[in-house]
Amino acid sequence: MFDYLIVGAGFAGAVLAERLASQRGRRCLVIDRRAHLAGNAYDFADRAGVLLHQYGPHYFRTNSERIRDYLGQFTEWHPADYRILSWTGGRHWPFPINLNTFEQFVGHPATSEEMAAALAKWRVPIESPRNSEEVIVSQVGRELYEMFFQGYTRKQWRRDPSELDPSVCGRVPIRTNRDDRYVSDKFQAMPRDGYTALFQRMLAHPNIEVRLGVDFRDARVQVPHRRLVYTGALDEYYDHCFGPLPYRSLRFEPETVETEWFQPVVQVNYPNDHEYTRCVEIKHVTGQKLPVTTVVREYPQDFGPGREAYYPLPAPDAQALYKRYEALAERETNVSFVGRMATYRYYNMDQIVGRALTACARITHRSDAAAGGAPPGWAGRGDARPCLATMRPPEIAPRGP
Ligand code: FAD
Ligand code: UDP
Repeated sequence: MFDYLIVGAGFAGAVLAERLASQRGRRCLVIDRRAHLAGNAYDFADRAGVLLHQYGPHYFRTNSERIRDYLGQFTEWHPADYRILSWTGGRHWPFPINLNTFEQFVGHPATSEEMAAALAKWRVPIESPRNSEEVIVSQVGRELYEMFFQGYTRKQWRRDPSELDPSVCGRVPIRTNRDDRYVSDKFQAMPRDGYTALFQRMLAHPNIEVRLGVDFRDARVQVPHRRLVYTGALDEYYDHCFGPLPYRSLRFEPETVETEWFQPVVQVNYPNDHEYTRCVEIKHVTGQKLPVTTVVREYPQDFGPGREAYYPLPAPDAQALYKRYEALAERETNVSFVGRMATYRYYNMDQIVGRALTACARITHRSDAAAGGAPPGWAGRGDARPCLATMRPPEIAPRGP
């Protein structure tokens, strides 16, 4: 009998399990249908010994000391510089757009003031941008938009930027100084031993059991539990009763190369060349020292059978459909939906950790109130047969230098 059945061993599920187990003394069963912990942040050593991110590069960053310190209980940090170049017109460009990009574009040295004055001339005056095209052209004008954003976004989303929320391209900063970091957050670092090790430490609590290779469809009837935390896709939970929500998928193609470094920075974007959007050499930010390297090219894919749903689609039509599922979710009394797919939002890892920490307080408050001193009801009263694959998180060396 578990107090909580937690579906998904990604950041949302792991943070909730850890908090409920260690702070509230609750017995938690975490299941995941994949064969590993860490959700999309999963990393592993490939045959060449390179620590790879199986589901695309995961650059940790946050402005929140609370989130940094919370995760810091389970990992040391390796300071990282997320520097990116964009390849177009047969050459590399500093990206995101900054003063260095501008100088290369105009072909001579310039100041921040000169750049700001040029952008003021080029930008299309739009007071409140309503989509991802408007959000960029209103800052830098059409030419830079077409160079760096239009082609990449069409490839990635199979939609024109004008059909996507401003938040999609608006995630990418535009600067008139020489700050060429990909993101602006105060804290930018990678877990020193990788994400999977971080998750192993988080879940190594005696009140937490982890079963991998187990789908919720089976566990919901086989595992007796009082409450449910669900971090998978919301439309799947409701058997797609209103029709499937749209997602984007990706194919990752790794290549090991017998050279220490393959490209000058961790990520090169290809807005206008090739079918892939980006080529990532993660060694640049994990701090590994090896004579060989592995790069991974990312090919956008339509979502469908046999493919993973990686990105919810930030567009008005998709949001309207999601709202119908959300209305069902809001009526549930014994189930909490947390995480990127369950809330259908394009959240980063730190945002998910923050939301899971907040959700923990809400969930325990609700379950305490519902219990009222008496044992709460079952969320899914089934028989008590054990699920197929049972696994304790593997032993891992304690954290330390
Ligand atoms: P997930 O990590 O997706 O975990 C959910 C888990 O639930 C999965 O393991 C899944 O197998 C499991 N599950 C789902 N349904 C079921 C079911 N029915 N039964 C059993 N198990 C189930 N964020 C950053 O901060 N920085 C980055 O650089 C970054 N890069 C990214 C790159 C890519 C390509 C992608 C796709 C995402 C990136 N993110 C990044 C976002 C980051 O991956 C998410 O914020 C984070 O992983 C969300 O955690 P989660 O627990 O909500 O979901
Ligand atoms: N984008 C772009 N050109 C680039 C990089 C990003 O047009 O060179 C757009 C694209 O639509 C992308 C979005 O900005 O999906 C967000 O980029 P980010 O690198 O944050 O994407 P993620 O890492 O989430 O895939």
